[in-house]
Amino acid sequence: MPELPDLLYVMGILRPALVGRAVAAERLGAPVVLRSVVKGDLSLLVGRTLDDLLRRGHFLVFRFGDLDLAVNPMLAGRFRLAEPGSRLEATAAFVLTFHPGPDLRYLDDKKMGKAYLLPAGAWKGVPGMEGGGLDVLSPDFTLDCFRERLRGRRDQVRAFVMDKRALDSLGNAYADEVLFEAGIHPKTWCRSLTAEDAARLHAAIVTVMRAAAEEVQRRQEPIEVKVRDFLRIRLRTVCPRCGAKVRKAGVRGMDSYFCPRCQPETRPGLVDWRKTGV
Ligand SMILES: [Zn+2]
Repeated sequence: MPELPDLLYVMGILRPALVGRAVAAERLGAPVVLRSVVKGDLSLLVGRTLDDLLRRGHFLVFRFGDLDLAVNPMLAGRFRLAEPGSRLEATAAFVLTFHPGPDLRYLDDKKMGKAYLLPAGAWKGVPGMEGGGLDVLSPDFTLDCFRERLRGRRDQVRAFVMDKRALDSLGNAYADEVLFEAGIHPKTWCRSLTAEDAARLHAAIVTVMRAAAEEVQRRQEPIEVKVRDFLRIRLRTVCPRCGAKVRKAGVRGMDSYFCPRCQPETRPGLVDWRKTGV
């Protein structure tokens, strides 16, 4: 899934290419991705000008006057800019053709992403679009604010760092990266983190996310390319720090990659090793 560093890069490319242009045509290739909260479908956007492009958590929000198109790419969704009339990808779930171009194509191999058409700003009823998370790239993301969010949490630390109402925002890949950087086991309970753990985790989030945002920006790849080859633990087999075999564990149904030596478990019996081989 595109994560914060990817989304910021994508927005930086899409804004100058599309804002101020009107939609001349639309094409919905995969109706399963569209959820219309208003009466009508993508044809409502034809003739409308894109006024703004916003981000809420892992959603990109295209604002057309009093209508928003909020897209959550989930696992496999990607955006692509293309020449109108050029060969259409088999995975194109929808296309908005702007005048005088380009096409904005939303590609999704798995058709798991969702695009919500809704009244501008009416984001409340959209699953996963809860706001309120601290912007981890802002100078306002201080250790004190972070500790405040951590206080009273009763979940595992990996679930906490991925909670969009707490932090804006980390997905699977960067949740693994920040916990590796901080040397914290993904299944550690929030309440068992020490003050030093919290400080280390906060510093890791700042360092990892800023570096990732810079790296994705520096690479200048086409926006449909997910730049992930610089990640240190996610999808790796060997720990880059100590050489141990990287393990995989399920946290709330999602795979978490970690190094058993650099991120030791804090509770005996935490992980069933028979089930965690990569
Ligand atoms: Zn290690």
